[in-house]
Amino acid sequence: MKVGDWCSRKTYPSYFNHAIGKPLTPRAKASLLQIVRSFSLDLQDTPIRHGKERAPRTLPRRFNPLRAFRVPPAIYRLIGPAPRVIDDKLWLKLLHAAESLEKPDLRSFQLGMYPFELVQAVATTWCLSGLRTDEIRRLRVGCIRSRMEDAFANESGESIPNDALCFLSVPVNKTGTAFTKPVHWLVGKRIEAWERVRPQQTLGLDPKTNEMVNFLFSFRGIRIAPEYVNGHLIPLLCAKANIPLRDAVGKITAHRARATIASALYNAPEGLGIGELGQWLGHKDLRSTQYYAKLHPTRLAKSIARANKNSRLIQVMVDPTAAAKGEPAIFYYLGDGAYCANPAWASCPHRMACLKCPMYVAKETAQLIEARDGILRLMQEVPLTDEEKSVAEGDVTALDRYIEKRKHVQTPQIPSELHIFNP
Ligand code: SF4
Repeated sequence: MKVGDWCSRKTYPSYFNHAIGKPLTPRAKASLLQIVRSFSLDLQDTPIRHGKERAPRTLPRRFNPLRAFRVPPAIYRLIGPAPRVIDDKLWLKLLHAAESLEKPDLRSFQLGMYPFELVQAVATTWCLSGLRTDEIRRLRVGCIRSRMEDAFANESGESIPNDALCFLSVPVNKTGTAFTKPVHWLVGKRIEAWERVRPQQTLGLDPKTNEMVNFLFSFRGIRIAPEYVNGHLIPLLCAKANIPLRDAVGKITAHRARATIASALYNAPEGLGIGELGQWLGHKDLRSTQYYAKLHPTRLAKSIARANKNSRLIQVMVDPTAAAKGEPAIFYYLGDGAYCANPAWASCPHRMACLKCPMYVAKETAQLIEARDGILRLMQEVPLTDEEKSVAEGDVTALDRYIEKRKHVQTPQIPSELHIFNP
C-alpha cells in the first residue's frame, strides 16, 4: 500500500503531495491496522441502530479483530525509536540564523506583519527550548523567571552562573500538567524583550485549560497561527542561514527541533539521563522519551572503548566430552603453558598471580588435555580492576603489591576431587 491509495486527491492535504505514491512507513501501516482493529471492536461491542424501526444491532462475532488485524511481526520489527534529528551542520546554521536575526530579514521575506521582537522571541524559543508548537503558541506573559529559589546551588554546592539559564513555565500539554523547565538564558532575554514592547491585548481562551489567559505570542488580540513556525519562521531562518528546507531525513519541521535538542542533551558528554530528559520534555511516560533520544554511534563507541580499556580477553580451553562425563571441562590459560581448572577462575583472588593451588594444571598435564579429541579453544572477556590491569601490563611494583595484599588470603575451595591436578 502506498501514500494516497484509496484517497480522493481533492480531499488530500496539499502538504502530502510530495509523498504521494511512496510506500507507507511501517509505523503508518501499524496505525492503519490499529484503526481497523478499534473500528471492528466497536462494531462488535456497541449496538448501532439502522433506521428508526429496526432494533440496534452489533456486528456478529465471527472473527477476533485483535488477532485478524494484529501488526505482522515483520512490520513490528521495523518500528523503533528513530528521532528525526536535523543534520548537525544545518542545525548549527539555523541556531546562528535565529540568534542573529535582524529587522531587514523580515522585510526581505515579507514577514513584516508581526513586530520584530515577537519573531525573534518565537525563533529563539523554537530553537532552544524544545517545546511543541502548540506549547509555544500557548505560552503566557510572565512565563520566564530568571531565578528559581532553589537554584542558587546545585547538588555539589556550586552556584549556577547567573547568565547560564533561566526558567520557563510551560502550560498544560498533551501528555502532562504544567511544569517549569530550565532553558538557555537567551530564550529569557528575547522573551523579556518582546514583553517590554508587547501592546496590551484582550485575554484569549486557552482551549486546553478553558481559562482566559494573556498569551505571550499574540498580536492585535490574535495568537500566532498554528502553521506559523512551519510555514513562515522556518523558511525565513533557512533563507537567512542559506540552507535548503529539507535534509536527508526530510523537511525541516518545528517538531524536528525538539528531537534535535533532546538528542543533543542526551548525547552530551555529561548529558541528561533518560528520566531527566523525559521531565525536561514534559513526558509522563518515559517510553515517549525514547522516540526523541537515540544514543549517538560515537557515544556508544566511546562507552565500548571505555569498557574495553578495563577488560582482557582470556584464552579458555573447553573439553565437551569431559563436560558430558561430569569431569573438569573448562581450563583458563595462566601463561607458560599452564592452566587453571577452577570453573570460577574469574572470582579467584589470586587469578593474576596464581598460588598454584590443587586446581593448577602444570604444562605437562595441560599438553595431555590439549591433545584430547574435540577440544575447543575460546576467548572470554574478563573485566579487570585498575590494579589487575597494571599487573597484566607487566608492572612489577603493582605485582608485588598484589601478591603482598593477598598472601594471607585462602585459595578457592575445590569443587570436587576430580579437580585436583596439583596434589
Ligand atoms: S590459585 Fe588455584 S584457582 Fe586461583 S588461579 Fe591459581 S590454580 Fe586457579
